[in-house]
Amino acid sequence: MKHLIMALLLMRIIFNAAAQLPAYDNYPVYEGNDLGLSYTKESSRLKIWAPFAESVRLVIYKEGQGGKALKKETMEKAAFGTWAHTLKGDWAGKFYAFSVKRMGKWSEEVTDPYAKAVGINGGRAMILDLRKTDPIGWERDGLAALPATEAIIYELHIRDATIAANSGIHHKGKYLGLAESGTRVTGLDHIRSLGVTHVHLLPFFDYNSVDEKDPARKYNWGYDPLNYNVPEGSYSADPYDGSRRIWEVKQLIQTFHSSGLRVVMDVVYNHTAKTENSNFNRIVPGYYYRQDANGKFSNATACNNETASERAMMRKFILESMVYWVKEYHVDGFRVDLMGVHDIETMNLISRELNKIKPGILLYGEGWTAGPSPLPDEKRALKKNAAQLDHIAVFSDDMRDGIKGSVFVHDEKGFASGKIDNIESVKFGIVASCQHPQIDYAKVNYSKAPYAKEPWQVITYCECHDNHALWDKLAISAKEYREQERRSMQKLALAIVLSSQGIPFLHAGTEFLRTKQGVENSFDSPDTVNQLDWDLRRKNGDIVEYVKTLIRMRKEHVAFRQTSADQIRSTIRFRDDIPKGILAYTIDGNKVFDPWGDIMVIFNGNNTVSRVSVGDQNWYYFISGINYPSQQVKGEIEIAPFSCTILHKNK
Ligand code: CA
Repeated sequence: MKHLIMALLLMRIIFNAAAQLPAYDNYPVYEGNDLGLSYTKESSRLKIWAPFAESVRLVIYKEGQGGKALKKETMEKAAFGTWAHTLKGDWAGKFYAFSVKRMGKWSEEVTDPYAKAVGINGGRAMILDLRKTDPIGWERDGLAALPATEAIIYELHIRDATIAANSGIHHKGKYLGLAESGTRVTGLDHIRSLGVTHVHLLPFFDYNSVDEKDPARKYNWGYDPLNYNVPEGSYSADPYDGSRRIWEVKQLIQTFHSSGLRVVMDVVYNHTAKTENSNFNRIVPGYYYRQDANGKFSNATACNNETASERAMMRKFILESMVYWVKEYHVDGFRVDLMGVHDIETMNLISRELNKIKPGILLYGEGWTAGPSPLPDEKRALKKNAAQLDHIAVFSDDMRDGIKGSVFVHDEKGFASGKIDNIESVKFGIVASCQHPQIDYAKVNYSKAPYAKEPWQVITYCECHDNHALWDKLAISAKEYREQERRSMQKLALAIVLSSQGIPFLHAGTEFLRTKQGVENSFDSPDTVNQLDWDLRRKNGDIVEYVKTLIRMRKEHVAFRQTSADQIRSTIRFRDDIPKGILAYTIDGNKVFDPWGDIMVIFNGNNTVSRVSVGDQNWYYFISGINYPSQQVKGEIEIAPFSCTILHKNK
């Protein structure tokens, strides 16, 4: 009986201790912008938000991993749930960690979530003078933003770009490797030659999966965040020195900028690699994540947890992190992973604040989740809510799968490989998912209503790092066709993307028939699967030239990158007087002052030569599946199987 009473008493104490904590929405909110390290030569001040902690300890080390603590300091309780401590003197080059005491128990040491530099594998934050990480001329670095519809995005993984033996690049798989030039047809030189405007780099914040001590042993795309405000170490020539990688990323971005290329950073704020043991959760248990009805971590990301962007300090964290990457690293845009997990209010706040710093910054994300979320659909940045997003675009999976078939049904064809029923979905993509009177929305594959108000709200694509590479998808779904015919399909798919309204997006290497050898989800496949094979670049130079021609066309002709849905509705007319399996439309380029005047675009999704009348006035060929005839044409013209023909009235 005595034991029972004791047990009940103990339970009551624990229950009360838990019950004393308010709901997460009522946690104190710290409005200051000095969380993390404030460094000068005279002192280093550390600040952490850890409401309801009983005590917080700061531990200083000489090393980024291992070794004995140089110093342990108790932090002082400060306003709004924060704890602070000032170290006198110059501590640059030293490392630190926090430990938090709750219910009488100290947590394991954790990395400062606001860390801007870390040691090997991100286990401890580093004290440094950020100004010493700037490359020469950094203060003059930067490119003005382009209007979103003028962007042509090239999606690239830093390591894939240079790791292949045939890249001819010295710093293979590294930040600096992607900044090398003089290799003529590989890496940066190749990208520059394409004419794309933005390079979207897959995650290069510090992620968890690759051992930075031996990166060659393991590969990962990097969608497993560890330290949000620090560059990944495995791409660095020296991942032990926390300042080195910062300089390298800046060097890379500066090189891109001086090549006329803007940089989009792929960010993953929707979940953290670790759950119970993440630094967020050890410092403020539960707060940074959403919970399901049972109080367990909810999982809209299929990665064991989902962050709670709607809570004040998580919202602030995401915003401050993105502001930091723009200000400190001069990034030109963000691609937001599983943006549908985040709430609309947070995304619009981010857009407003980033546009103040960099007007016209390019923002886009995945308007979906990987599972159900406790936050209601109407609050989340889902594709169907795209019209509510303020200068943020969403990926058009309708267009993607309309062109090549569902990414989930591997042997399904798309319009470019002969599934002509998909025409309505492709038409929907051509007008960038906006309202157009000639589209039968009931026949569109996924969205039965136009979700975009304006063309800059949509990323037009047919392929990204996820799922099969386009060339592999064609090999699986159109295996009865010869390679020559599948090459035509690939060209047709890319021509649709590059001639359609919205913001075109290409997966690196698609312009030379990149293959991942049939691997569908290569997120941790070896380099042999993921690397860009530069022999393919040499072998398929004709397709590279084809893509370059279309990129040039898009840049020179505003008709293909119109800036409003009203313009699109008034200039684009789909033709209905044409054979089955042909998708043809005209653009009245005069209305948007395009030098070509009238334009006609004809896509043939049939495996047969088709004949299409273009009327009794002369047209010039720009591009066609039947070589490049230079003469003028009128009347009936031949359209090659699986091909794109573009005609224009004015020379
Ligand atoms: Ca890492």
